[in-house]
Parts: sequence; C-alpha cells; structure tokens
Amino acid sequence: MNTEERNFATDAIREQYARTEYREHSVPLYLTSSFVFDDAEQARAMFADEISGNIYSRYSNPNTSEFIAKMCLLEGTEDGVPTASGMAAMFSSMIALLKMGDHVLACRSVFGSTHQILNTIFPKFGISHTYADISEPETWESKIQPNTKMIFVETPSNPALDIIDLEWLGKLANKHKLILNVDNCFATPYLQNPAKYGAHIVTHSATKFIDGQGRVIGGVILGTKELIKEIRFFTRHTGPTMSPFNAWVLSKSLETLAVRMDRHCENAMKLATYLETNPDVARVKYPFLPSHPQHALAKKQMRLGGGLVTFEIKGGLDQGRKFLNSLKMISHTPNLGDTRTIAIHPASTTHSKLSDDERAQVGIMPGLIRIAVGLEDVKDIIKDIEQAIESSRN
Ligand SMILES: *Cc1c(COP(=O)(O)O)cnc(C)c1O
Repeated sequence: MNTEERNFATDAIREQYARTEYREHSVPLYLTSSFVFDDAEQARAMFADEISGNIYSRYSNPNTSEFIAKMCLLEGTEDGVPTASGMAAMFSSMIALLKMGDHVLACRSVFGSTHQILNTIFPKFGISHTYADISEPETWESKIQPNTKMIFVETPSNPALDIIDLEWLGKLANKHKLILNVDNCFATPYLQNPAKYGAHIVTHSATKFIDGQGRVIGGVILGTKELIKEIRFFTRHTGPTMSPFNAWVLSKSLETLAVRMDRHCENAMKLATYLETNPDVARVKYPFLPSHPQHALAKKQMRLGGGLVTFEIKGGLDQGRKFLNSLKMISHTPNLGDTRTIAIHPASTTHSKLSDDERAQVGIMPGLIRIAVGLEDVKDIIKDIEQAIESSRN
C-alpha cells in the first residue's frame, strides 16, 4: 500500500518498526543501553555518520525511532527528536538553535515553565525575549528586532484558549527569516499541523494527549532536516533523551489518538454548550463555540475544538475555590489530556505567582476554571460540574 494515500488514523496504527525474526505483531520493547557492532569497520562508519544504525540508547533506540517516525508522519515534518519531557523539548529546541545575543519573540501566554526558561534561565546566557499578545496580532511585527532569531508560540493558548493565525504567523516568520517554533501540545497532530503553515519546529509535551492516560512524561521536537540535525547534536551530547520504555508506551498511545481526540472534543463541545446555559457562569470559552471571538479562525486551522474548556464563575476567587472543593468525580490536579476529566483554578494554583495585572493580561480572571475534558460519559461530567456549581453558591 502506498503510504502517501493513507489517512491519519491508519498511519498512527500502521507505521511500525520492522518486524523481527520472531514475527511479532505488536512492536516489542528494546530495553538495551547499547548495540553490538558486527565488526570494526561498521563501528567506525557508524561513529563517522557514514551509515545509520543504533549505537547507544542516548543517541537512538528502535523504540524511540519508531515513535518519532510516526510523529513525523502525523505532523508532516521531515525529522524529529524525542525528549525526556515536554520541557526538555521546549528547552532543547530553543537553546540548540540560539546563541548569546539572540532574541526570541514569544506569545505572552506560554506554559509556566517555558516562561521560566525565557524570563530566568535564558538571560544568564545572554538570550533575551519580548512577549506579544495573541489577541493583538498587529503589534507583533514591530516587536521583531535585528537580533530576533525565533518566534515561539502556543495555540490554543493556556488557559485563555486564544487562537493565533498560523498561516499569518508562518508568513511573518518567513518574511523576517525567523525560525517559527510552535508548541502544539494542546491541539495534537490530529487537530492541527503547524508545519503546514510554515512552522520550522513543532514541539510537544507527549505527557498530555499523546500519552492520554496520565502515565508517562515525554516530549517531542519535530522539524526540518537541517534544524533537527542541530537539535539532535545537542540532545545526543547533553542527554535529555527519552527512555525506550516511554517511547514504547507513547507509540502505543498514538494508535488510539484519533479516536480519543474525537471523543475528547465531542465531550468538550457538549460541556461548553451546557455551561453557556448555566446562570452562575459569566463566560464560557471553547474554540468551536460560535461565541468564541476567533471561532472562524479556529475552524480554519483546527479539525475540532480540542479537549479544554474554560469558564468564569460569577462569584470570583471564592466561588471558584468552593467549586473545586465540591467536585465529586472530577479530579483536581494540574495535568491535562487524560482519560479522566480534570479541573484546575489557575488564579490560585498554576498562575498564582503572577500579579493580578499579569493574570488579566493572559486572560485569567479570578473565577476562571479550566476543565480538561476526559473520556467519561459526558452526562456524568456535566452532572458533577452542575452539582459543584450549585454547591459553590453559598
Ligand atoms: C505540560 C506542557 C508542557 C511541559 O511538558 P512536560 O511534559 O510536563 O514537561 C509544555 N507546554 C505545554 C503547552 C504543556 O501543556
């Protein structure tokens, strides 16, 4: 079968590492730190990069190679590197391509630890940054400096669920010859492929929807052959690489990504639609709700609306906390993209270190609740949220 004619779900299942002499149907787990050379000439040629092959599992391993080959196929990128965590992917994809004196233009609403990299770690190495707001695309071009080397964004943003126009951003990056790096964790390759719009690097926390079952930590860096070569040099010699076991788990997870995302999105849409009818809810945000300010853009670049819904409870901080204490089934934990529905109150947890002004800038109102909608029956998800809102009133 010509693989070019295959569709997403088929690729996610049928892209497989070559079968061994044992004729196994499912890909085996290769727990080995190194690989044996046939002879001295092969060892020399492999170390000289004249021939490819596994040498040592910090460089590559059949399981990590299989996982990354599948991710490349699903994102439409030439090459990739798996990493020990999403943050190892964010950090390595930036530091490997930047040097002292370079500048990064990033969206203000980046993931908390990415914020720490840009604000606290990079300045030690002479790498500066400027934040721009997703809701004000007209301000981005004027923030590009002569030393700007990379644009780093997340869309949909966390937790505001604002959308950045990837087609516009791809053109802006190319016009100024900048590397466009998109953290595609919230959308997954099933919902959105930033490389199609000109992103040179696509990064993921595989811990979230890619694993989808809250078991392992992992990350992925995908991109052009040329850039990945530099990043691979960095990860090979500094070691933030993925374990074969985690790669094996994540590759299995990809086999169900399409069906899981279909259900996450269907449940999220139903929950968002319900929340708009609840009198205690001031505002609901979900990219595929017609009330989302960028609904048309979301529909243009995303297959479905994603698994996250946010809403603002009218009673602010106090009612938000009571709501979380009143949940009976839904988990209160900072993860997302799990089979289990998860609720978090960003103002008192993930974004508590920001000032009120900074929180408002990234769209976090005191009563904002973020729901990472899981795969339980949506009737039970809605029932739990409804009773918790009811109990949070007094
Ligand atoms: C979780 C997350 C990360 C970090 O990933 P880890 O696997 O936890 O290191 C980065 N970006 C986004 C958008 C995330 O949600």
